[in-house]
Amino acid sequence: MNPANEPSFRDSVDLMFNRAVALMDLPPGLEEKIRVCNATYTVRFGVRLRGRIHTFTGYRSVHSEHMEPVKGGIRYSMAVNQNEVEALAALMTYKCALVEAPFGGSKGGLCIDPRDYDEHELELITRRFAYELIKRDMINPAQNVPAPDMGTGEREMAWIADQYKRMNTTDINGVACVTGKPINAGGIQGRTEATGRGVQYALHAFFRDPEGMKKAGLTGKLEGKRVIIQGLGNVGYHAAKFLSEEDGAKITAIIERDGALHDQDGLNVEAVHKWIEKHGTIKGYADAKFEEDGAKFLEAECDILIPAALEGVINLSNAERIQAPLIIEAANGPVTAGADEVLRKKGIVIVPDMYANAGGVTVSYFEWVKNLSHIRFGRMQRRAEESRHQLVVDELERLSADKELGWTLSPNFKEKYLRGAGELELVRSGLDDTMRTAYEAMAHVWHSRDDVDDLRTAAYLVSIAKVAASYHAKGL
Ligand code: GLU
Repeated sequence: MNPANEPSFRDSVDLMFNRAVALMDLPPGLEEKIRVCNATYTVRFGVRLRGRIHTFTGYRSVHSEHMEPVKGGIRYSMAVNQNEVEALAALMTYKCALVEAPFGGSKGGLCIDPRDYDEHELELITRRFAYELIKRDMINPAQNVPAPDMGTGEREMAWIADQYKRMNTTDINGVACVTGKPINAGGIQGRTEATGRGVQYALHAFFRDPEGMKKAGLTGKLEGKRVIIQGLGNVGYHAAKFLSEEDGAKITAIIERDGALHDQDGLNVEAVHKWIEKHGTIKGYADAKFEEDGAKFLEAECDILIPAALEGVINLSNAERIQAPLIIEAANGPVTAGADEVLRKKGIVIVPDMYANAGGVTVSYFEWVKNLSHIRFGRMQRRAEESRHQLVVDELERLSADKELGWTLSPNFKEKYLRGAGELELVRSGLDDTMRTAYEAMAHVWHSRDDVDDLRTAAYLVSIAKVAASYHAKGL
């Protein structure tokens, strides 16, 4: 995606890393140890389909093992190659460190267009790829735990988990070998929405930061803010849905691979999503204007721009024309290193990918813990919590029956207060807490250091310091 005159995605990640470490005082040589990718495994395997053998190429790259297991999704896309997988694995290291998910960074990819195959064929391909990785411990609950990424979802994760269990029948923790599974195959509530939900919580955290808001030239609340989103896949769809339905933001344009839909009064995200599911395109959707040249909406006027699709979409060819004062990177690597510099000079604030899309791996962490503990979150506490709340409600009802005190309970108070937290509430609470804590750590660096003028550098500084500390603790 990066134009020819720009560094590759992988070089972009390294350039941004270098910019941050230049401001740090790391022991000699540690900088390089952290930056390099530890290992990349390339596998070519054949699957018999439609009467002939098809050969596929897949990768699993491990960027850093300062903590194990290493973690990161598996992507199905024709753009997958070793450099891309390694860049994405590096981002996983920094992302996990930033949000304190106790993992090293990894990533996998299969060079395939999933739309070219039916479900049964995809199952054969996925199981064979998983087999190749499992037999080399590149999928393993203690060592390397994949998850969904672009082109994969809970269906593929269920196949991978099942494949692992077939090959490791006595591993009691086998189901923890992969996250992002469906609920009835060992998944957790709230994982599918997690990355989009994390984007929403990241924006909440940003809007709670007056200094950050000032730097972006924004005021007020999310309500009524004009949002342009690129990509209505799992991440973009959930982010746009929550921001419009829960926070009252207006989604003024949705950019997809075949054009853009736009409406200054705000689009109905659910309706557009349903349309795409049914027709496989945004074309023909009647309740909005259509524009063939979708990418030009990256440059349109709005308050918040959310690239939630591919890497390198904001690059030297369009950065100068971007008008949004705030960009939140729901995708991995949507802004090239060159564009990052242009945007910084223009005063545009970027909430970086390693923070903005960390909701997925955060909830993956919860799923992995759930799998290892073999019990659903909230199962032990929920009713105990409810009975303690019942005591308070009974007491308040007794007091409000006393006419002289003149107390009344607010409508819905009883019902809301009585409800103990189930798994979904706990997952959302854990995710919100994670996103707030990480934002505060990043923003503290951003606002307090004169040599740091952007959130990306701040994010790298926080996460590299954490990775360095764990190497230090290991005696390296
Ligand atoms: N693929 C997602 C990411 O890029 C999720 C990774 C995970 O849950 O391990 O962060």
